[in-house]
Amino acid sequence: MKTDIVIAGCGVAGLYCALNLPRDKSIIIITKDDADKSDSFLAQGGICVLKDDSDYDSYFEDTMRAGHYENNKESIDIMIRSSSDVIDDLIKAGVRFERNNGEFVYTKEGAHSTPRILFHKDITGKEITEHLLERVRELKNVTIIEHFTMVDIIEKNNECCGIIGHDSDGVYTAIQADYTVMATGGIGGLYKHSTNYSHLTGDSIAIALKHGIRLQNPDYIQIHPTTLYSRKKGRRFLISESVRGEGAVLFNSHMRRFVDELLPRDIVAKAIYDEMKKDGKPYVWLSMKPIPTEKIKSHFPNIYRRCLEEGFDVTKECIPVVPAQHYFMGGIDVDRYSKTSMERLYAVGETACNGVHGRNRLASNSLLESLVFAKRAANNITGVYTKSGFDGETEVNKSQYRGYEKAYKKAVLAEIEKEKSNNE
Ligand SMILES: Cc1cc2nc3c(=O)[nH]c(=O)nc-3n(C[C@H](O)[C@H](O)[C@H](O)COP(=O)(O)OP(=O)(O)OC[C@H]3O[C@@H](n4cnc5c(N)ncnc54)[C@H](O)[C@@H]3O)c2cc1C
Repeated sequence: MKTDIVIAGCGVAGLYCALNLPRDKSIIIITKDDADKSDSFLAQGGICVLKDDSDYDSYFEDTMRAGHYENNKESIDIMIRSSSDVIDDLIKAGVRFERNNGEFVYTKEGAHSTPRILFHKDITGKEITEHLLERVRELKNVTIIEHFTMVDIIEKNNECCGIIGHDSDGVYTAIQADYTVMATGGIGGLYKHSTNYSHLTGDSIAIALKHGIRLQNPDYIQIHPTTLYSRKKGRRFLISESVRGEGAVLFNSHMRRFVDELLPRDIVAKAIYDEMKKDGKPYVWLSMKPIPTEKIKSHFPNIYRRCLEEGFDVTKECIPVVPAQHYFMGGIDVDRYSKTSMERLYAVGETACNGVHGRNRLASNSLLESLVFAKRAANNITGVYTKSGFDGETEVNKSQYRGYEKAYKKAVLAEIEKEKSNNE
């Protein structure tokens, strides 16, 4: 196949990138699963925004403090200053955020010193991504191919000329393109306990390792403090941090509080692990009872319903919670235009690392960061666009990819461990 631009991944980053590319370019978006099976659909809490200029310093400092001051300051500045532009675009795309008498309502999460998070009930990600997907489906120049997995890129002299992938029948195809954008999300599928979809296995990271594309901080992995404890296998259900922002508290097995619930995620997760170890229990308790019942039902209907299905009425009783892998702060190293170390190759969203999050992501900065830097990638591609010099045919040697899933997972986990031990 041939196209002008190929995008791997159909979450907020891939979709918003496509929406910001010129309409006269042919674009193919591929996705490993159904188009609506991405972590973007799972986001609960909300999306940060600079609500007025007086909040700039405080928002900047909260992001830095959560990230242990290892963040890239220029990237944070870009993200914060671009936030209202992105929110305007989302509203134009049809996204509805909670309002009171026409004014935005802001919520708060851990490590934020003030409420600055826009939300739609506790399904903000679904609201945003569904609308972006609808808008993309309206575009005549964009084709979405579902159940098509990228396994490699086409590289000629450190230039990316497209991707190689296979469909669900195992038929391999090369998609040649002038520009390639990796938007394949996080790495939760590599872990036994994660809030992520299990098909998100960091394939772009494995491909980057194979081609010597620069990575940044592959060992920076966020553990979310509160997922619903369950003996069942599969994806962990997140109990959004915004419930703690709205007043929920944590208890150990003796029903004693043991941590300030609004500290950054890594600190709260460590305190929970310590308490579980001390008490010999596989969970701690979270009480949403300090939140008025009406507010639980209106702001957190999804959490309320899911906990009921699991046998817990959060308006009346505590729920068992346990930390789980949640987010990948590291990734493919990109500049402020989301360009990787390889020519004609961009990376956006959770799979990329522009340094915004430092060592630990501030709650509700991920959707915003993904959107801001996806738009910058699109604008940069538009500005520099030239045809790729490569116009030969790509032969796909299918046998080369036999058993790649296992090999890729192993390679990414090994890289994470290597980086961890280098930093110890
Ligand atoms: C439960 C949960 C709650 C969250 N809540 C919030 C929140 O409230 N606020 C916030 O800011 N962030 C939140 N996040 C984080 C945020 O949702 C993600 O970081 C963000 O949506 C990532 O977007 P993305 O486009 O990079 O990736 P994703 O949305 O994960 O999309 C990745 C896409 O890549 C595709 N893909 C993967 N591998 C391949 C391959 N090899 N070939 C082809 N396609 C591939 C997938 O099928 C998918 O379409 C939450 C995350 C989770 C899991």
